[in-house]
Amino acid sequence: MILLKKVADLSRWLEKQRLAGKSIGFVPTMGALHAGHISLIDISKKNAKATICSIFVNPTQFNDPKDFQKYPITIEKDILLLEQAGTDALFLPEEAEIYPEGVKGLEKYDLGRLESLLEGAFRPGHFQGVCQVMRRLLEAVRPDHLFMGQKDYQQCMVIRRLLEIMELPTLLHPCPIVREEDGLAMSSRNMRLSEDQRKKAPAIYQSLLHLKNGWTIEKTVSFLESNGFRVDYVSVADPVTLEPQPAQVRPSIALIAAFIGEIRLIDNMPL
Ligand code: AMP
Repeated sequence: MILLKKVADLSRWLEKQRLAGKSIGFVPTMGALHAGHISLIDISKKNAKATICSIFVNPTQFNDPKDFQKYPITIEKDILLLEQAGTDALFLPEEAEIYPEGVKGLEKYDLGRLESLLEGAFRPGHFQGVCQVMRRLLEAVRPDHLFMGQKDYQQCMVIRRLLEIMELPTLLHPCPIVREEDGLAMSSRNMRLSEDQRKKAPAIYQSLLHLKNGWTIEKTVSFLESNGFRVDYVSVADPVTLEPQPAQVRPSIALIAAFIGEIRLIDNMPL
């Protein structure tokens, strides 16, 4: 695996791949990699001839500065995992490489309702930050295929919108959620859970199963609260618009965001 830190080196490497007739698959991440991330690499390897992963903890998408400061960094382990998975290149830029003019006064995107629903409502500015970094990464990589996890369901929708805004031909592949044995969706933030919090964390997955089996939103919120969670939202929504809809309507998606201690976890499940 080749390690690239500069956009100029990345461009040279990409040019070589394209001259060799290789399609480019891209997996953007913030590092602290786990089997969920590696599943995206595996899917990319099946769909594209060359796979590039990026690791960049993007400051502009953190609406909570403490969350940014405490974001786990495990770069040496990440490099080993990516090599074992057969990744062709890792783009590991410094902040100045992505934001040469700094992070103040950056451009804004029209994301419509996506910005006032669910994650948009509870994390003001988060999706603007996601678009700001993704625009720069997509301009640098110009991938044929882009692989993102359905764990961040609304983020996939935001990126679909960004690809339209940028008029890029890149094909977005939303990839299945990878879970621990007890159902907890894998997440870099899981490493920050205490032993007790880790034991309670699968209640989010259980809540999604309960919603699937007909529990009301109120009952599900109480269940999470009785397990020590502070709930941001439990929603049953239209999978295309994310607008809330009655529980019996199909197709439907259940989405949850809740804090355990200071760790915020999200998950979702089609009903
Ligand atoms: P992150 O490093 O959290 O920004 O995530 C990078 C990519 O990995 C995003 O597209 C996530 O949706 C995806 N991802 C994170 N966790 C999982 C998971 N448990 N299963 C599948 N994809 C995931």
